[in-house]
Amino acid sequence: MAVSHNMFGFQRLLVQLISVVLLLGMSNFGAAAMPVVDSVRIGDYPEKTRFVMEFDKPVKFNVFTLGSPYRVVIELPEVAWRIKPETVPKGKRITGYRFGLFKPGQSRVVIDLKSPIKVSKSFTLPPNSKRGHRLVLDISEISSARFSALQKRRPEKRSIETKVSPEVRAPVLPLKKPKKRRKSERRLIVLDPGHGGIDPGARGRRGTLEKKLVLAQAKELRRQLLATGRYRVVMTRSRDIFVRLRERIAIAQRAGGDLFISLHADSIGNRHVRGGSVYTLSERASDKEAEALARRENKSDIIAGVDLNDQSKTVAKILIDLRQRLTKNDSVAFAKTLVAQLSKKTRMLRRKHRFAGFAVLKGPEIPSVLIEMGYLSNLHDERLLRRASHRRKIAGAIVQAIDRYFSRQQALRQP
Ligand SMILES: [Zn+2]
Repeated sequence: MAVSHNMFGFQRLLVQLISVVLLLGMSNFGAAAMPVVDSVRIGDYPEKTRFVMEFDKPVKFNVFTLGSPYRVVIELPEVAWRIKPETVPKGKRITGYRFGLFKPGQSRVVIDLKSPIKVSKSFTLPPNSKRGHRLVLDISEISSARFSALQKRRPEKRSIETKVSPEVRAPVLPLKKPKKRRKSERRLIVLDPGHGGIDPGARGRRGTLEKKLVLAQAKELRRQLLATGRYRVVMTRSRDIFVRLRERIAIAQRAGGDLFISLHADSIGNRHVRGGSVYTLSERASDKEAEALARRENKSDIIAGVDLNDQSKTVAKILIDLRQRLTKNDSVAFAKTLVAQLSKKTRMLRRKHRFAGFAVLKGPEIPSVLIEMGYLSNLHDERLLRRASHRRKIAGAIVQAIDRYFSRQQALRQP
């Protein structure tokens, strides 16, 4: 009796231990050592706005400003966020801000501003009886001429990074020429869940974030593709992290992808509009809405606080070269197959296949499409997209389309 009672106690302890281990395992890698952001406050004063972040331990930081549009960027080591995006306050000079992972080892806050400003003070405060470790920024208005002058004098940035677990790095593969394919070789599908980290993408009416939803969809699609045994899969991101648009293309190119699929779920002003759609790259947009959508999706780098002045304007400017024209036919063929398969499983827009200048579809040698799975601005679509069963259905339709696309390609290329 006593023994069995003890056994029961032991088992319960074991169960508790296992749940603790599981909980630890589920939390982010190294989260135990990561500083946690507990709160953010904004205080408006006549001559300045004070931006305060509170942490559970001291952090190093780096701050700089960016123009067009005016932004302040705070670089931090990788941190965990205990604040919710919905609770983000606004102020007299601040129109909004975002936070999240920018790259492995570095988190960021990007603050949007009404007008040119300078960071007049930035410092940290130790904890007191009421508050934890604080990072304080004071910002004040300046003229645009003064802003430009200060930008030119901006010193080389220090980089704030912490150690990174190896699995989060994007795969780096040597550049290679397009190869001749052996019949037995499995095709490589590149899945590109849009947005991520500091770029949340669209926000649903019930608060669903596009970045989370498209990652869940991509993981389900990867699972189903691998299960066929016919495909290999590379993802441009497999966690909540920001990836630049051109890096998404570079990942696909380095891996030697056969097909590139970017996954999104947009939001628009009209709450009644619902349904999926498929996009391919074109110099000229098929319609105004497609053009506006491409403009929104192309803003990802700006949203994440990337300084586009540091590089040639390739991401912002959409020009299509000859190689892109060659893969364009393949992209269109795949888009048509996709539309046919998706229409069987989910509601689609009336114009199901459209074109526009999406930067992320510019990989010149890889047939590429962008799927908008539905509208987060529509309650019905949002509810559907949140369901795992719906995501399984969508993934199934995409796998069907991929199968058909490659078998048709093969039929066309046979002598
Ligand atoms: Zn998107």
